[in-house]
Amino acid sequence: AQRTLAIIKPDGLLGNYTDDIKRTVSEYGFSIVEEQIVQLDEATVKRFYAEHSSKSFFSSLVKYMTSGPVLVMVLEKDNAVADWRALMGPTDASKAKITHPRSIRAKCGLDTEKNCVHGSDSTKSAQREILFFFDELAPD
Ligand code: ATP
Ligand code: MG
Repeated sequence: AQRTLAIIKPDGLLGNYTDDIKRTVSEYGFSIVEEQIVQLDEATVKRFYAEHSSKSFFSSLVKYMTSGPVLVMVLEKDNAVADWRALMGPTDASKAKITHPRSIRAKCGLDTEKNCVHGSDSTKSAQREILFFFDELAPD
């Protein structure tokens, strides 16, 4: 089986979407291998999202991701990376409501930034991101 890193972002956690999301996760055949609630600080978010550091939305993203605690999870199933991305829906939650109404972002997110959940975008990212949060765990 494959592993991916999922994050329920501050709006998801504070909006009480956690139980709903976890139910969906298990309905779709993922198992939660690790989970941890963390309050991220600026430096940690900047490191995690380093690839976006030159983007116009970077400082806003850092503010959003430090605005409250997040739930970080390692999810496992066959094809976990792509399947979790599909289940999350598109980045822009406001569009997701129209094009992917059953997706998690459609149900829990708000817009392009406040989109409630994160998922690794490749197996390589998954490996980096899982190590980032859970040191000794790595996919495959
Ligand atoms: P996808 O890769 O499908 O676009 P993602 O969650 O990986 O989804 P990224 O483009 O990697 O999105 O961006 C990381 C995060 O930064 C997004 O999930 C979102 O919270 C925020 N973000 C992305 N684009 C914007 C934007 N144009 N304006 C504000 N915030 C954004
Ligand atoms: Mg991404």
